[in-house]
Amino acid sequence: MKLKIILFFILYTAALFGQTDTSLVLVSSLDSTIITDVRYATENNFTHKVLYPSAKVYLRHDAAVQLAKANEFLKKTYNLRIKIFDGYRPLSVQKYMWSILPNENFVADPAKGSRHNRGCAADVTLIDQSGRELDMGTQFDDFTPKARPDYQDISDRAAANRKILKLAMMQFGFIQMETEWWHFDFNGWEKYSILDIPIK
Ligand SMILES: [Zn+2]
Repeated sequence: MKLKIILFFILYTAALFGQTDTSLVLVSSLDSTIITDVRYATENNFTHKVLYPSAKVYLRHDAAVQLAKANEFLKKTYNLRIKIFDGYRPLSVQKYMWSILPNENFVADPAKGSRHNRGCAADVTLIDQSGRELDMGTQFDDFTPKARPDYQDISDRAAANRKILKLAMMQFGFIQMETEWWHFDFNGWEKYSILDIPIK
């Protein structure tokens, strides 16, 4: 009997530690030095409409933890920080974006769902100590070939800044999108479900 109780206890703790925390976490609550600039909560975005009722960025717990680590690395190594434009995005907002720009190079087809809809994608850039955005060759949501991370015809400084951002994000489990220098998917995104919880 005693053995059964011990065995149960071991299995229970193993299950507990094996589980991943899939909750959505407010990025700024985890690391207040990550600056949020939610264009989709303003009219300053490609749709020219307010898409989010609140300027808050959420990510799945593990992705948020890794993003905070990338931010720590940038602070220590380059005296830079991360600014985040977007993270979790409700599926209904994805459908609306697709109705305006149905081009899979820049907006994920809502029929398949975006990694943003899973809370597993972050749109980020670099800022200096005074909060100024670094030159990255294009602005966020620049839907031209120039936004491709491997695009050659940008300044040396912008190319170097893109490299720093990629290096920091890759080290902590993010993969850069081929068409947008600012977009990074969290490794293992496919394990997370698509959500349509409104941003509050
Ligand atoms: Zn994105």
